[in-house]
Amino acid sequence: MSAKIRLYVEHPLGQGQSVPLTRDQAHYLFGVMRLAVGGQVALFNGQDGEWLAEVAEASKRGGVLMCVEQTKPLQLPPDLWFLFAPIKKARTDFIVEKAAEMGAARIMPVQTEFTNSERIRQDRLQAHAVEAAEQCGGTYVPEVTELQRLDRVLDSWPDGRQLMFCDEAEVGSALRLAASDPGQPWAILIGPEGGFSDRERGRLSALPYAHVVSLGPRILRADTAAVAALAMWQQALGDWA
Ligand code: SAH
Repeated sequence: MSAKIRLYVEHPLGQGQSVPLTRDQAHYLFGVMRLAVGGQVALFNGQDGEWLAEVAEASKRGGVLMCVEQTKPLQLPPDLWFLFAPIKKARTDFIVEKAAEMGAARIMPVQTEFTNSERIRQDRLQAHAVEAAEQCGGTYVPEVTELQRLDRVLDSWPDGRQLMFCDEAEVGSALRLAASDPGQPWAILIGPEGGFSDRERGRLSALPYAHVVSLGPRILRADTAAVAALAMWQQALGDWA
C-alpha cells in the first residue's frame, strides 16, 4: 500500500505511533490537499524509514496521524558533503534542491573570494532540501549548514575526507575522478559564477586530500556543474555504482 502525499516530520515513527501535526502541516494536508480522517500519508523523519500513516484527527489548526506500517527502511546517502558558492537566489535554491535529490548527505554553502552573495537564508534553503526529499522518495534530509568561509572550512578539514575539486581551469582536460576505496568520506566543491581565484586554486590544488577534476570540454554554469559533479561522483563512488 502506498500513499501519494509524502511528509517530513520531526517526530519518532513506529508501529501504532501517533504523530501530532503542526499548524502548517495541518493546513497543507487538510486545507490544500483536502485530506480527511482515514486519509493516507507517507511519513519519514530521517531516522525511522518511511511509514504509511492515516489521519486520526483533522482540524484547521492541527491534527493527528497514526502510523500503520513501515513502507521503506531508512536509506542513508553516501557520506558526501556538497560545498558550493551561493549564486543568485533562484539558482541557489535550485542547487540545494538538486543536491538533496542527487544524494548529498550535507549541503554546505561556502563563501569564496568571488562569491557574489554574502548572505543566505539557511532556513529557506533547509526547507528546499526537505521538499526535495519529500518529492524524490528519499527517507533522509541533508542538513544545510550556514554560510561559512571556504578558507575556514579548509582550515578545519576532517582527517580522511577526500575532496573532489571541480576546477574550471581544467576545462577540456582529461582529469577525471580516479578510482579510490569505496566507502570513504568525500566532499565536492563547486565555485561561483566568477570561478576560483588564483590563490584559492593554488591552495586547493596543493591539498593532499584534493582531487582536481574537469567536468568536460565546456564551462558549465555553477548550477549545471553541481548536478554534473554529483552525477560523476555517484557514478564512480556513490550509490549509483
Ligand atoms: N567564470 C568562470 C566559470 C565559473 S563556472 C570562467 O569563465 O572560467 C562555476 C563553477 O562550476 C566553477 O568554479 C567550477 O567549480 C565548475 N565548473 C564549470 N565548468 C567546469 C568544467 N568544465 N570543469 C570543472 N569545473 C567546472
